[in-house]
Amino acid sequence: MGGGQLGRMIAMAAAQLGYRCHIYAPEKHSIAAEVSAGFTCASWLDQAALSEFAQNCAVVTYEFENVPVAPLAAIPEDRMAPGKLALEIAQDRLKEKQFIADLGGRPAPYARVDTEEGLRDAVEQVGMPGILKTRRDGYDGKGQWRIHSLSEMDGVRVPQGGLIYEGFVRFEAEFSVILVRARDGSVKFWDSAQNIHKNGILAESRLPAPKLVGEQVEEARELARQAADALNYVGVLALEFFATAEGPVFNEMAPRVHNSGHWTSEGAVTSQFENHVRAICGLPLGDTSTVSTRVEMRNLIGGEAADIASLLADPRAHLHLYGKAEAREGRKMGHVTKVG
Ligand code: ATP
Ligand code: MG
Ligand code: MG
Repeated sequence: MGGGQLGRMIAMAAAQLGYRCHIYAPEKHSIAAEVSAGFTCASWLDQAALSEFAQNCAVVTYEFENVPVAPLAAIPEDRMAPGKLALEIAQDRLKEKQFIADLGGRPAPYARVDTEEGLRDAVEQVGMPGILKTRRDGYDGKGQWRIHSLSEMDGVRVPQGGLIYEGFVRFEAEFSVILVRARDGSVKFWDSAQNIHKNGILAESRLPAPKLVGEQVEEARELARQAADALNYVGVLALEFFATAEGPVFNEMAPRVHNSGHWTSEGAVTSQFENHVRAICGLPLGDTSTVSTRVEMRNLIGGEAADIASLLADPRAHLHLYGKAEAREGRKMGHVTKVG
């Protein structure tokens, strides 16, 4: 489910293992469907289409966490990996933070905002500066507003689904924990790269990460493992963290393969895409070890993917282009990995 680049890369890994993928997505043109055996173009709310799709699949997975959960009643729970609970929690920033806090993890200080009047209370409770985020549907920093003064709250409308106000975390570095959990409950982790964001969009992931990240990875992994166990999770799961002087602070989680794991295609013995497919198909997991002391992944945003020859001028560069027709500003068009 989901027709974007993550689905495309999962489908390519599945094809290598001899599987055929069938994509379900609402948009007419899907870059995942282009590399797959079949395509259902239908709404997320179309239960008849969902049911027929699932009947023709041995296993249903998702590359997109904003799939509405209620219509998924049309798909048997045991056909889905990961399951519906992971989707339901990870698509709502409030539920996600409560879930992590209940497991003993530490999210940034936050307050829910349900009404315009509630905005000032939230700021009073959490303090400034902070970030106002939509609870649902945000990605690549969309649906977020940085707040430095109360006047910046003027005119803010609370959308359906509500907002959350988070205190601004002063971090040394950002990193993510990416794990894969098999049907038997066994878990493997990839190394944690440093993630560098620009304008709310991931720009680069680099290994090795700074020392502070290395010191905090174990604690973050323990939390990620507990989250995966609590969800009876099958597949690849990513948790984003801020490395701070006070320890790792949880940012958000993604119940899917993750952009900060794209380096694993060439930088790890087994990529996140291949291990996701292995996990959901009940196959043994591959080794997640990093193959070199240095690995980097750079996202190609908007026009950055235009000059292919110069991107490949470095013979170590591996270019991954997603086949998107229009290079709109802020749009992820591809990425380049370098190993060694
Ligand atoms: P994506 O799903 O594409 O990772 P998103 O739209 O869900 O992005 P977040 O991960 O919440 O957005 O935020 C994007 C980036 O903004 C973070 O990686 C971080 O750099 C910064 N950011 C978000 N929340 C905070 C915070 N509370 N304190 C400091 N920086 C933050
Ligand atoms: Mg997100
Ligand atoms: Mg994020």
